[in-house]
Amino acid sequence: MAEFCLDCWNKLNHIRLKAEDVVLSDYLDFCEACAEMKPTIVCYRKHKKRPQARRREGRKKHRQPPG
Ligand SMILES: [Zn+2]
Repeated sequence: MAEFCLDCWNKLNHIRLKAEDVVLSDYLDFCEACAEMKPTIVCYRKHKKRPQARRREGRKKHRQPPG
């Protein structure tokens, strides 16, 4: 599988992803586009938006009933 750094990936796909949108490799890898050793994209990071907020224990805010 081809490895691309974030800059090249954006150029190739005409998108503008940021480092926080993807998971970059911890190590330097050979980018096949710019032929440099750079952190390459491992996978897309899932969006932080959650369809449903999960209730977690530990939050002790108590909502008062209206009125
Ligand atoms: Zn590159």
